[in-house]
Order: sequence, then C-alpha cells, then structure tokens
Amino acid sequence: MYDPNASAEETLRLLVEGNRRFASGACRHPNTDLARVIELSTSGQKPFAAVIACSDSRVPVERVFDRGVGDLFVVREAGNVCGTLAAASLEFAVTVLGCGVIVVMGHTGCGAVQAACSADRQSDTVEALLHPIRETARSERDKPGEGTLEERVTSANVMRSAWDLERASPAVADARRAGTLVIAPAVYDLSTGVVEWLEG
Ligand SMILES: [Zn+2]
Repeated sequence: MYDPNASAEETLRLLVEGNRRFASGACRHPNTDLARVIELSTSGQKPFAAVIACSDSRVPVERVFDRGVGDLFVVREAGNVCGTLAAASLEFAVTVLGCGVIVVMGHTGCGAVQAACSADRQSDTVEALLHPIRETARSERDKPGEGTLEERVTSANVMRSAWDLERASPAVADARRAGTLVIAPAVYDLSTGVVEWLEG
C-alpha cells in the first residue's frame, strides 16, 4: 500500500520500483481485484500520481508501473502530445485529486514521432496532432547530438509536452513553482519494458 499523502520522492520511488518489477517479470499486480473496485466505487478515487503517455497499445501505463485500480490518473494521446484538453485533465488531477507527481512519458518506436520526422504529409486532423512534434523535429534536425533523429526527437518531445502542459495550465505551472508538484519526464523502452527517467 502507499500513503496518499506521500512526498513526491516517495511517489517516484513507488513508480521506479513498480517498473523494476514489470521489467524483470516480477509483477505483484497490486490493487487489481474486485474488492478494490468495489471499495473505490464508494470511497472515491485518490490516485497517487498522474501520467500522460502515448496511446500506443504497447504502452499499457498501469502495467508498466505494476499498479492497479485507482492508483494512477492516466491521460493518453498519440505522441504524448499535451494540448489544452489533455492539460485540463492533468490540472484536474493536481487541483482536485491532489496528485503531487505528473509523469510525462514518451516511448521508443513511437509512430507519431516517426511520422513527424518524415516529410510525408498526413491528413489535416493528424497534422494538428503532429504539429508540436514536427516543430521539435525541425529544431532537433539542426542540432548536433547523440543517437538517431528519432531518438533525439522522442526525448525532446517529452520535454516539449511538459512545457506545453505548464503553458496550457497556469494552475499546474503554479503548483510546480510552489513545490507541491513534480513533473517527471521519462521514456519507456518498448523492447525492454524499462522506463528511463530524464533530467527534468
Ligand atoms: Zn507513440
């Protein structure tokens, strides 16, 4: 179990430990039984962290952190893009539900990042989603750096989403500045199950 009033450090430790269990095949599947479902239907939710991640079916957020029902408040958008609506959901997690940590999580092999790194044009609907990732890809293309363009854009896109989140939600930005909220950028490796934590 976890303390609902845990510090950000404690919350991040739970996430790190859960991912270690997942990536080593030692999941405990906490809070996944029917008793938990029934209990939360009357007690209400008190998730201990919020996560914004990609919609990719290979990024099952609760499983990646070996957590269960009522543990994580999850927003998923292709390319983990953080527009106004996603930011509104995360603002709710912070200001109403009291989450003290938001993980902004990209992943390796992301189709949205690959599309944004390509010259091929998508539909107007998809281009609206890709717009911030295309901007990131343009600036990364001209920078020297380690790894492939796709790898660099994956990390840079996480940082861009974290920035977009604060820009779209002054309440989230205020909470982070006040020290009541930690925004933790991360990249999930599809091939190993490991979450790599980036420098914030
Ligand atoms: Zn993706």
